[in-house]
Amino acid sequence: MQVEKKVVVVALGGNAILQPGQRGTFEEQMKNVHVTCEQLALMVESGKYKIVVTHGNGPQVGNILLQNEVGKDVAAPMPLYVCGAESQGLIGYMIQQNLINLLAAKGKGNIPVATIVTQVVVDKGDPAFANPTKPVGPFYSAEEAARLKKEKGYDVKEDAGRGWRRVVPSPDPVEIFEKEAIRQLVDARSIVIASGGGGIPVVRENGVLKGVDAVIDKDLAGERLAVDVKASIFMVLTDVAQVKLHYKTPQEESLARMTVAEAKKYAAEGHFAKGSMEPKVRAAIRFIESGGEKAIITSLDKATDALEGKAGTTITRE
Ligand code: ADP
Ligand code: MG
Repeated sequence: MQVEKKVVVVALGGNAILQPGQRGTFEEQMKNVHVTCEQLALMVESGKYKIVVTHGNGPQVGNILLQNEVGKDVAAPMPLYVCGAESQGLIGYMIQQNLINLLAAKGKGNIPVATIVTQVVVDKGDPAFANPTKPVGPFYSAEEAARLKKEKGYDVKEDAGRGWRRVVPSPDPVEIFEKEAIRQLVDARSIVIASGGGGIPVVRENGVLKGVDAVIDKDLAGERLAVDVKASIFMVLTDVAQVKLHYKTPQEESLARMTVAEAKKYAAEGHFAKGSMEPKVRAAIRFIESGGEKAIITSLDKATDALEGKAGTTITRE
């Protein structure tokens, strides 16, 4: 009897696409994505997993915003949420093509691979809208920042002496709008790339969808996606092999496993930095509490070992 494949949602961190210090040329990004897709292809090749991929988009959307800014007098700039959609296409293309080529080389060219431009519904009443915190786009002088605030209503903040930046809200993801389309593709054994960059933030206004300038955390959106595709495993691939207690102190300790109760306790004790590890652990907790089997946080090179319980940090109910 053939064992049913487990659905794994893999959330790729920034360094899966762009390494620190790189400028972000297409060639650099394709090379990184190729290495990333080699790991993903290994999961597929094992025959045990159906994968659904999501990814960050920080540096890519940052560059698109910069291009918009520099070229605004010759080509009409797009709103932030449209830049997010552009980044889903850019990154989706790179992942899609690398996966197709790698799978074909393994004799698995018959597995369809597709990227879905994904809208993620957020709540207009989310408290994040009253307190924009997430810096996006280029740095501005104090004068430019004041002008953008006046003319476009941007929220701007000084960024640690480096200049002024626009800040946008980071609301909680409520619903992956394209979930039914994604689910149908997964059921029909396609590899789907979805909810890139945390998804395109949209609100519902009188029953109509409308883009909003905001940034959704990709790990929290990835968790929603994992629940929607009925994944057994939610795997966050980042640049550390394991979650640590007392991170970057002499008492630092790597965790091979934690229960949801332990994860909550450690989070409350402040072991996980806000905006980096904290949302990953929060997403892991939510996934298990929504009925998921296990969540894994590890680095790209440890992905296949972590699925076997031989690496990374695994979070389970008990
Ligand atoms: P990604 O692009 O993968 O989302 P982030 O930078 O957002 O990457 O999150 C990963 C980072 O979280 C690590 O590089 C590490 O510096 C940081 N981090 C903060 N707290 C911890 C912790 N307790 N254990 C491990 N890493 C931590
Ligand atoms: Mg992150």
